[in-house]
Amino acid sequence: MTYDPNNIFAKILRGEIPSHRVYEDDKVLAFLDIMPRATGHTLVIPKAPSRNLLDVAPEDLDAVMAVAQRIARAQLGVFEAEGITVTQHNEHAGGQEVFHLHVHVIPRRLGVELRP
Ligand code: 5GP
Repeated sequence: MTYDPNNIFAKILRGEIPSHRVYEDDKVLAFLDIMPRATGHTLVIPKAPSRNLLDVAPEDLDAVMAVAQRIARAQLGVFEAEGITVTQHNEHAGGQEVFHLHVHVIPRRLGVELRP
């Protein structure tokens, strides 16, 4: 399990492909998912290279989760969310498709199912 520097999120971090950035600091970037499962579906990633939860440095994980919390709180107001779903996938068997650690932060409303 190695880190591939040509994964799509590494390219987003380097500015090689566009993204809709919603938050950035020295350790973390957050941007909108290109295929949102709900309006406002946001991905939070560390700037440091890590494949997923299995290899991330604890300080990078802390920074990512602190930003995920900020995004979740903001979604309550911006999208009038009534709840927030946070998911995170690891390796092919765990549903991971892009191999740079990311946390999904998804605004939810009662009775509204996630898009496929
Ligand atoms: P995973 O299954 O790895 O947890 O989720 C990968 C996510 O990345 C998916 O929700 C997918 O829509 C999103 N995604 C894939 N390619 C791009 C892209 O080029 N730009 C953005 N913003 N999101 C992407």
